[in-house]
Order: sequence, then structure tokens, then C-alpha cells
Amino acid sequence: MIQSERIKIYNSFGFDENGEYVLYWMQSAQRIKNNHALELSIQLANKHNLPLLVCFIVMERYPGANRRHYEFMLEGIDDLKTDLNELGISFAVQVGDVKALITDLSHRASIVVFDDSITRPLKQLKDDVGQLIQKQVFTVETNVIVPIETAYPKEAYAAYAIRKALQRQAAYFAVGFESSQLKNKSTIGNVQESVHLESVFEKNLSHLEDLPSIRKVKGGEREALNRLCSYIENELEYYDSLSNHPEKDVTSHLSPYIHFGQLSPVTVYEEAMKSGKNSAGLIEQLFIRRELAYNFVHYNPNYDLDLMKILPDWAIKELDRHRIDARPYEYNIETLEQGRTHDTYWNAAQKEMVLTGFMHGTMRMYWGKKVIEWTKTPEEAFEILLYLNDKYQLDGRDPNGYAGIAWCFGKHDRPFSERAIFGKVRYMNAEGLKRKYRIEKYVENIMKLEDQS
Ligand SMILES: Cc1cc2nc3c(=O)[nH]c(=O)nc-3n(C[C@H](O)[C@H](O)[C@H](O)COP(=O)(O)OP(=O)(O)OC[C@H]3O[C@@H](n4cnc5c(N)ncnc54)[C@H](O)[C@@H]3O)c2cc1C
Repeated sequence: MIQSERIKIYNSFGFDENGEYVLYWMQSAQRIKNNHALELSIQLANKHNLPLLVCFIVMERYPGANRRHYEFMLEGIDDLKTDLNELGISFAVQVGDVKALITDLSHRASIVVFDDSITRPLKQLKDDVGQLIQKQVFTVETNVIVPIETAYPKEAYAAYAIRKALQRQAAYFAVGFESSQLKNKSTIGNVQESVHLESVFEKNLSHLEDLPSIRKVKGGEREALNRLCSYIENELEYYDSLSNHPEKDVTSHLSPYIHFGQLSPVTVYEEAMKSGKNSAGLIEQLFIRRELAYNFVHYNPNYDLDLMKILPDWAIKELDRHRIDARPYEYNIETLEQGRTHDTYWNAAQKEMVLTGFMHGTMRMYWGKKVIEWTKTPEEAFEILLYLNDKYQLDGRDPNGYAGIAWCFGKHDRPFSERAIFGKVRYMNAEGLKRKYRIEKYVENIMKLEDQS
């Protein structure tokens, strides 16, 4: 079922009777299962007895993305080529100027469907492309459980503000569906041949920065669904008691798949609930915290631009009052990036991220808090955190990352007792890590990884 709240009509053009196909520009929802934009496209094609063309455009210079991100994403696109074709759906993968390519494909379409985007680069691009297309365009919000504006009409102060509203709407929105079968499977002629993904790195993406990397995960919807299945079967039951422990590493590691839209949050929610296991902790993160992050990025255009325009007044006041406090250590971006501080735990977290493209959630909080403590100003810390997070995390450049970094400065949080540098913004220290976790074991795990690299 596609809830009507997910669908927006983008412009005032009508259905083009002379069109040859329905066109779905897949960008943020790189999957088949529980993809409401794909489902709407199939339903429109069936209604008008048309074939369906799904296209994916590989942008050669997507802001902030490097080879690590592209490899993960294109592994998924490669699988989709086979999986969509098996459903009788044509799939064109092209490289280059998105505006020109989509506009070109839209000329022969009867109607066009976009999936939703929330961060600035894709949102802007979709607006630009939408204005060039002279066909009716639908956008479909498929990467959240509850559509953002339906969930809450303004920027939420903290999780408590939206939790009840989200929970109330879960029974209606957190419902997966069986995809409809496409009826008209005829081949669409004269569409520029799809690029060969094996050669795309050499031909089009050779300029990308290649990071030293231990690949622990492969990208793609098939991998995502396997990972989800095995996680629910083997580890979900430990989530509530152990997910905070960096040394145990029992969180789901689903964030990169969710980030690229290879896995729908609806699927994770439904499968976790169906398992009958205790999934309260996981659902709090996946649903409430994640959709709070989407709320933040949707309603606050400064999410990655201006720290003082995203924080609550009390946090701004506290950070301002403590600007003059002496920093116990000061590190520049190079020292931080290389993980060469005095703090073994912090260095281990930084190395985990650099080497694997992932950092444990507890360490992300500690990692962010320490950068605030070790840099001259909150603004400098904000800039460094955004840079490192977006460059190295496979799930970077995501609303969760922007909200997570803002949280380190007091966003969505409450005042605690007063400290130097932080004022009443929550503070974390190494003693806490030692007291609560077997943090030396975490460091040992990362050192083993380093030896493999
Ligand atoms: C400084 C900082 C930076 C962060 N950067 C990112 C980032 O770039 N991308 C990213 O996806 N998350 C980010 N997070 C949020 C969170 O740490 C990660 O989503 C989580 O650690 C991913 O691991 P997992 O998939 O095993 O999570 P699990 O614990 O298994 O949770 C399941 C899913 O819930 C969502 N989720 C979990 N924790 C949070 C959270 N705190 N806020 C919002 N959603 C959450 C994610 O989609 C995750 O995949 C950041 C947090 C902080 C404090």
C-alpha cells in the first residue's frame, strides 16, 4: 500500500497520452522491496498499459563522495540491473550530467516519478530537474516510516516532542507491501545503452580519492536483506543490553544500507516486530532517533552550515560563555585525521572509521565530544567533525550524521552539570568509557584491524 501522504504532485503538467513509458528516476531509494516510488511507477504503468523505465544516473562528482562510497553504491546498482530486469522492468544506468540525461529521457515519457531527497545537494538537483521536465512529476517520500511533515509540522525540540506522534502513526505507515507485477514488459527501444559498471571506475571515476580500506561489507539490497535477517536471528536479542558496548559490536551495521536507500526503514521495523524478539531499543534508534534527524534536516536549512543557527538557546549561551576556557590539548585537523592524539580510545575510534568506513555508536559520541574539547572554537570543531564524518563513514552525508554531530553540541539534548569548555552541554570522558565498558578490548580489536591493513 502506498499511503497518499507520501505522494506529492510536483507541477501542473498532465499525463502525456503520446508518451511511450513511465519514467522513474531512482536516486535515493536504490532498492525494490518497500520502495513506494517504484510501486507508484508500476501502478501508473499498469493503469495506462505502458512499460516502465527506471533510470539511475551516476554523478561523476557527487559532493563529498569518494571511491569508498561509490563502490558500495554501485555494487547495489549492479544487483538491481538483474533484479529489475527479472521483473520485466527496463533499467538504464547512465553516467554524466543529470539534468541533461533525465530531461532527455523524460521527453518520451508519459509521466515521471522521483523518490524523495532530503540533504541539500540532491534536493537542489531534484528541484532543478523538476523544473526542466515538461511532464507531470510525482515525488514519493519512501525513505522514512512516517512522512516528515505528516509526523510533525515544525522543527522538533527533542525526541520527546515527536515520539508519541510517530508511535501513533506507526500502525498506518510502518506497513510493508508486496510489489505489484508490471503487466507491460515490452522492451523500450532507443534508450542509450547502460554503462558497464566494471569499467566505470576506470572511464569516469578515476579522479575519486581512494581511501585505505578494509572492506567488511558489500553494498546492495541483497546484502542488506541478508544482513537484516541474520542480525534478527542471531543478535537482536542482545541489542538492549549490549548495544552501547563498543567492544561487543552488537549493533546492526545497517546504517550504510539505509543511507543509500538499499534497505527501507519500514522493512527493518516490520521484520524486527515480526520476530517477536525484544526490539524496543532498536526501534527507538531506527524510528524515533532517525526520524528526529530527518525532521531536523528538513526544517533547518543550516543543519551543516551554521552551528549557532541550529542549537537551542541554552546550548549557544553555554558554549559562548566558555569560549575563553583553556583547552587541555589542541589538535589540528591533520593530527585528528591521522588518529595521533594523546587519547588511545579516541585514536582507535578514528582508525575504525578510517579503515572500515564505520564507527561504533558509543564511540561516535565520544569522538565528537572530544573534538569540541581539543579545538579552539565550537565552530572549528563543527567543521572538522562534518569533514571527517562525511569523508570516512560509509553512512556519512546523512541526516543522522548531521543530527549526531549537532547532538554533541547540545542539540536535541538537555543541560547537565557545568564543566569547563562545555558549560552545561553534556560532557564525556575516558573514565566513563573505562567504567562502563571493556574499552581496552575495543582498542585491541581495532589494533588487530590495523595490522591487517
Ligand atoms: C557524532 C555522530 C555522528 C554520527 N554520524 C552518523 C552518520 O553519518 N550516519 C548515520 O547513519 N548515523 C550517524 N550517527 C548515528 C548513529 O551513531 C549511527 O546511525 C549508528 O551508530 C549506526 O550503526 P548501526 O547501523 O549498527 O546502528 P543500530 O544501533 O543498529 O541502529 C539501527 C539504525 O537506527 C538508526 N540509528 C541508530 N542510532 C541513531 C542515532 N543516534 N540517530 C539517528 N539514527 C540512528 C540508523 O539508521 C541505524 O542503522 C552519528 C552519531 C553521532 C553521535
